[in-house]
Amino acid sequence: MIRLYIPHDLAAGAELALDPGQSRYLTAVMRQALGDELLVFNGRDGEWRAAISAIGKRAVAIRALGLERPQVPAPDLDLIVALVKRGRLETIVEKAAELGARRVLLAATERTNADRARIDRLATIAMEAAEQTGRLDVPQVLEPAKLEKLVAGWEASRRLLFCDEAGDAAPILDALAGQAAGPWAILIGPEGGFSPAERAMLRALPCAIPVSLGPRILRADTAAISALTIWQAAIGDWRP
Ligand code: SAH
Repeated sequence: MIRLYIPHDLAAGAELALDPGQSRYLTAVMRQALGDELLVFNGRDGEWRAAISAIGKRAVAIRALGLERPQVPAPDLDLIVALVKRGRLETIVEKAAELGARRVLLAATERTNADRARIDRLATIAMEAAEQTGRLDVPQVLEPAKLEKLVAGWEASRRLLFCDEAGDAAPILDALAGQAAGPWAILIGPEGGFSPAERAMLRALPCAIPVSLGPRILRADTAAISALTIWQAAIGDWRP
């Protein structure tokens, strides 16, 4: 079943006009016709069954038929990742969507590999991954911010899983033992790692939990996938 993220409010009988891109995808690419059904979600109202109710030259209209799955809150898990090279960053955003991150925050650090990112492209990747993976929301990708600014404005209730390659941190699974869900963030550094000053600043955060991802140095994408996976398995929504 085709699944599409749409911004509109969803309610029984609502008639919704899709944008030209999604309209073309349904008719030209997926060869859908009047009456064919699909699933739609907007991040707020759950997932709805819908049917194509009109096919215009530039836009397709759909009618919301019935609620398929109610909206359930996803874990409040941020992934903060240093700006690494474009390809790797795109992989990280796609995997963060599949692995249930609620937001992806891009951090500019002293040894960052890039100083900007194509947010529109990353947002599209996040949306397409959310459609494919069956999520009821789309992870938000935020504009790059300096790491020290993220630390300075840190919300006290959000625990920070600081993936520290320095090697003296606790094994991640031990660090998560006994911890509960709630507001969390996972931090992954750039290919060049964190500077000593950054490491000191991060470890000074009261809610920071430095963790090791084992004896080998992982690429930023491998580290992000590993940390997200272990977090979800240990305290996230991989346990019903
Ligand atoms: N250039 C650095 C490695 C950086 S790897 C060095 O050689 O030391 C990129 C990021 O992935 C790191 O900043 C860290 O956040 C994470 N990472 C990679 N391997 C890790 C490990 N074994 N333990 C904890 N974090 C790790």
